[in-house]
Formats: sequence, structure tokens, C-alpha cells
Amino acid sequence: MDFSESTEHALLRESVAQLAARYGHGYFVEKAKTGGKTDELWAEAGKAGFLGVSVPEEYGGGGGGISELAIVCEELAAGGCPLLLIVVSPAICATVVAKFGTPAQKQRWLPGFADASLKMAFAITEPDAGSNSHRLTTTARRDGGDWLLSGRKYYISGVDEVESVLVVARTEDARTGQLRPALFVVPTGAPGFEAQPIDMQITSPEKQFTIFLDDVRLPADALIGESEDTALPALFAGLNPERITVAAYGNGIARYALAKGAAYAKDRQVWKTPVGAHQGIAHPLAQAKIAVELARLMTQKAAWLYDAGQDAAAGEAANMAKYASAEAAIEAVDKAIQTHGGNGMATEYGLATLWGAVRAGRIAPVSREMILNFVAQHSLGLPKSY
Ligand SMILES: Cc1cc2nc3c(=O)[nH]c(=O)nc-3n(C[C@H](O)[C@H](O)[C@H](O)COP(=O)(O)OP(=O)(O)OC[C@H]3O[C@@H](n4cnc5c(N)ncnc54)[C@H](O)[C@@H]3O)c2cc1C
Repeated sequence: MDFSESTEHALLRESVAQLAARYGHGYFVEKAKTGGKTDELWAEAGKAGFLGVSVPEEYGGGGGGISELAIVCEELAAGGCPLLLIVVSPAICATVVAKFGTPAQKQRWLPGFADASLKMAFAITEPDAGSNSHRLTTTARRDGGDWLLSGRKYYISGVDEVESVLVVARTEDARTGQLRPALFVVPTGAPGFEAQPIDMQITSPEKQFTIFLDDVRLPADALIGESEDTALPALFAGLNPERITVAAYGNGIARYALAKGAAYAKDRQVWKTPVGAHQGIAHPLAQAKIAVELARLMTQKAAWLYDAGQDAAAGEAANMAKYASAEAAIEAVDKAIQTHGGNGMATEYGLATLWGAVRAGRIAPVSREMILNFVAQHSLGLPKSY
């Protein structure tokens, strides 16, 4: 077992870190507070090939996997620019299209994912279903050669920044009459598509939306794959990369916060020594450091398993990584704020601005409780309680 990072990965990490350092958390917060978008950063990261690093080479991508994309996500966050849409567009949508799209769908969308000129949102969560995806009611029905899509989704990230949304819906099985999942690419400009922003307490240029779909007419080829039969494996192909990159995002924020916390603890002096000499300040930072290093190990393992095609093991590891990262990020940001005293709450010090993002990490894309349910049931063999 070799825990040293390959030269390629170390180089990628360093290049992304350099890019993030040129923008920094001040840029991210300024965009968030003025209603701007991180377009320059996204475009530069796309041009450098960072955002298309996991897209197959034949479509202009880097030919890497989720391990590489997780590095990109972590380093941007560690540099103060946690871009949530990496989790959605390249991690979920590009992976689903690359693995389950028809040849024509790959040809149409993958080159755009490769240079990140194409951004796609992802919509599964519904107000009346929440964590229980078996209760999804967004439905697609056939109308001649077209589909008509109706339903409602909430907390969908980045709808104002994308041309289309990958929507998880259900279709009726002609034989059994039962509803089964199907994935559709839905243009945000289609008649019947409406998005309303949700006012969130998260300091980020990336916003969340409720989507209303009212008989949105879609051509036959809006359905991902050759038929509805591939929807379930396609969905799972996207959800593990989502969890892994969200974990990387949390790990990056935790590293950013700990670096700030440690620097301040070494510098700030109110008695005879820097505040970092007090164990009441040093130990919580050290505990958070241990937690984030453990979370990073599990995230790397999950990414490796996913890229190696070991889907069942990757699913368990991705859940555990996402859980560990969310907890570590909350601890790291909280302890770094505490280290800063009153300054911890000031926008200028760039820590409280991350509180909403790390706190949401305990809820989305899959909540702490649903991961504990998964581990209890699948890893420990305990009975399902719900
Ligand atoms: C910032 C942010 C961005 C998001 N982006 C997207 C996106 O781009 N696309 C998308 O589709 N969704 C997105 N979401 C939605 C997110 O995936 C959901 O919020 C999440 O899955 C939880 O669903 P819910 O909010 O309906 O909570 P609910 O399912 O209503 O759960 C409420 C609480 O009950 C707990 N609970 C529920 N069932 C159980 C159980 N069986 N056992 C124990 N506890 C239980 C939950 O853990 C939670 O704490 C985003 C959410 C946020 C906050």
C-alpha cells in the first residue's frame, strides 16, 4: 500500500492551489455579497483543464477520474473558493453522460464539460419526498415522440448559472403501470420551466432554487441513455462522485480554516504568550486537524474505489467520507472562529463566511442521519428502522 501522492496528482494539486491563491476567499465573498458569479475563476479553471479532468480524453477531457476531480475541488476550497457547482456539473452530470449517455448525447455534451463551457445543474430533491427518493413524484409521460415533464424540485443549486438541468423524474412502465426513475436533460429556457431563488443563509455566489415543471415538452433524446432501463445505474453512477467531491469540498474548507486558525493563534497575543500557547486554543485546533486528515484519507479511498469500478465498496466509503468530512469541516471552522475571538465573526477575517456552507454539509447532499442509517443497515447489518 502506497500512501505517497503520485507526481501527476501532486502537480495537479499544486497548479489548482496556485490558481485558487490568485483569487482567494475575498474574491469569493465579494461575489457573494454583490450578487456576482465566479465566472472568471470557473472559466480559468476550465481552460486549464481542471474542471474537465475526469471527462474522457476522446471528448477533450483529461481522461482522469473522480480522484483527480476531488483534488481540484479540495484545492479550490482550501484556497478559499469552495465551488459547489463542481459537485453538480462535472462530478454528477458529466459522469452520468459519460457512462450512460447515448453516443449522440456524449458527442453533444462531453466536449462542453471537458472545457467547462457547459455547466449543468442536478435536481433530485423534492419538497414532498426529501430524503425519501422513493416518493419522487416528478413525472414524465409520453406525448407522441416527445415527453411532457411535470413536478417540483427544491434546493437545486446553480439554476441561474446553467443552460440545462439534469432532472430525476419517473416514467410509467407500460407493462406494470409502476413508476420508475428516468433522467432528463431539461433546458432552463423551456416553456413551463420556472425557477425561484430560495433566500439562504450561506455566503456564496452559488444560489439555491425551487424549480416548477409544468408540462415541459422535451424531445425523445432528452432522456439519458437508450431507454428508461439505464436510469437507476446511471443515477448511482452520479451519486457516489457527488458524495466524494462534497467530501473533498468540506476537507478543503477545513484545511483553509485550520491554516487561518493556526496562523492567528501564533500571532495574536493578549497575555504573555500567543493565544496558541493556551491548550484551550491549541487542542481543539489539533483535534480538528486529526479529524480532517482522517476524512481526507477516507475521501481518497472512496475516490480510488470508485475509479477502480468497485461500486459497492465505493458507496460505503463515499458515505463515510462525506460524513467524516462534514463533521471535520464544522469543527475546523468553529474552532478557527473561536481562536479569532470577535474577529472570527467579522467578514474581513473570512471564517464566519464559511459557516453556512459547512453547516449545510451536514444536511446535503445526503444528511448525517441518512448516512448513519446506511452504515447501520449495510455495514453493520442492523434492521432498517424506517
Ligand atoms: C446548500 C444546499 C444545496 C443543495 N443542492 C441540491 C441540488 O443541487 N440538487 C438537489 O437535488 N438537492 C439539493 N439539495 C437538497 C438536499 O439534498 C436535501 O436538503 C437533503 O437531501 C435532505 O432533504 P430535505 O431537506 O428534504 O430533508 P428531510 O428529508 O425533510 O429531512 C429532515 C430531517 O430529518 C432527518 N431524517 C429524514 N429521514 C430520516 C430517517 N429515516 N432517519 C433519521 N433521520 C431522518 C434528516 O436527516 C433531516 O435531518 C441541497 C441542499 C442544500 C442545503
